[in-house]
Amino acid sequence: MSEPKSTKNTDAIRYRNLYEAEDKIYTRKISGFYQSVRRYTGLPLIAAFLLLPWLIIDGRPAILFDLPARQFHVLWLTFWPQDFMLLAWLLIISAFSLFTVTVLLGRVYCGFTCPQTVWTLMFISIESFCEGDRNARIKLDKKPWSLEKVVRKGSKHSLWVLVAFITGVTFVGYFFPIRELLLGLVPSRDISTGMFVLNTPPAAVFWTAFFTITTYVNAGWMREQVCKYMCPYARFQSVMYDQDTLAVHYDTARGEGRGPRKSGEDYKAKGLGDCIDCSWCVQVCPVDIDIRDGIQYECINCGLCVDACNAVMDKLEYPRGLIRFTSIDQLKTGITRFFRPRVFGYAFAVSAMVVAFMYTVLTRTPLTVDVVRDRGARLYRISGDQVQNVYTLKINNMDNKPHHYNVEVEGEYAFKLRRGNSVEIEAGEVFSIPLRVSLDRSELKTEKTAIKFVVQAKDDDTILADEDSNFIGPTPRRK
Ligand code: SF4
Ligand code: SF4
Repeated sequence: MSEPKSTKNTDAIRYRNLYEAEDKIYTRKISGFYQSVRRYTGLPLIAAFLLLPWLIIDGRPAILFDLPARQFHVLWLTFWPQDFMLLAWLLIISAFSLFTVTVLLGRVYCGFTCPQTVWTLMFISIESFCEGDRNARIKLDKKPWSLEKVVRKGSKHSLWVLVAFITGVTFVGYFFPIRELLLGLVPSRDISTGMFVLNTPPAAVFWTAFFTITTYVNAGWMREQVCKYMCPYARFQSVMYDQDTLAVHYDTARGEGRGPRKSGEDYKAKGLGDCIDCSWCVQVCPVDIDIRDGIQYECINCGLCVDACNAVMDKLEYPRGLIRFTSIDQLKTGITRFFRPRVFGYAFAVSAMVVAFMYTVLTRTPLTVDVVRDRGARLYRISGDQVQNVYTLKINNMDNKPHHYNVEVEGEYAFKLRRGNSVEIEAGEVFSIPLRVSLDRSELKTEKTAIKFVVQAKDDDTILADEDSNFIGPTPRRK
């Protein structure tokens, strides 16, 4: 059970043993603008997470990170390990976008869209549904075990496990086709041994169990402790805040001195401010802090204390906004500067990277070519008046459909390909072809000459790739 919160605005240092057990938090249910925003941002994110692995495009899952095949399907595009730089750029763009939003609006990502927050909100809703609101849950926990307590707690944990399992299966469904995964998780009898077995790879079973357990533990039990002690973003966000960052603040000048008052009395004459010290703002806080003590690193900017305090202000017929999204400068000077060099810097960096990323993705050729010279004992062969070199061409069709490719050789001399120069390659296939290139010996002027292999799809002029190599021959004859 939580200790009663300090309601004094005090600068006294509070010491805390890092190894002491965390108090259980019983959050009060609240409705209001920010709670609705949380719900309506969380629901589409959950729906997208659950539905995307089921979506089929061109006969394959719309999003599938196929690690064994080393192919990453995202909607109509397929990425290969060669495209790793794009993934790195995507992560850098995401990080800079997060920095931009944080400089402007504080930790709204944490408060409204972070999976830990969204899943915790879902688990708390299940808890309230099974055990009741804050006071009912406190009472239930104090009660000795009874049939009612077993039923309430049992149904809560059963629903948590169900949601955690759906989350685990869905997450693994981004790496393993989800239909096969689900079918394989249904035990069937093995004819030879007579035992029930799962028809899905052990790795898929392991990761499904792993993500089921971590979801259950993180969203059901650890909740705010993940944000406070495990998430690195919570640690470095303080360096991104500045005096003009919008964050949840308590208006000390308006609220203090805090304390109860009788209805209709002139509380200002008694030296009281607008805060009636009801502690609702603390009771709704998912990370168990008192925002009246000032901005704190635990605060995830979820706005629930704003909703709670506004509800109290409405009842008292005081103006709303004693706790509100505002900036330190706004509280001190009445002005927030939105357009500041830092914001421009981050926004410019993000825009430039997005343009470069989009250009690279849209102009990316779904074809790679590698040329390996024959590492055999002989660098070249002489056949009559012809010099020959042998190469192996590795052509990777990174497209979603098969193509017929033409192979040509370009260089300083009239090189000839001694074999069919056309090949059909299936979608996502890597094909190796040995190629023999020959040249009339009389044309050769140097022992080593640069040549280029050009591969082009017959049905699409834009799918073209080339690779340089060398043609080796004997010392040219003196004329
Ligand atoms: S102090 Fe307010 S905004 Fe911050 S985490 Fe608690 S409820 Fe959310
Ligand atoms: S909810 Fe508002 S009135 Fe109540 S304690 Fe918090 S700041 Fe004061």
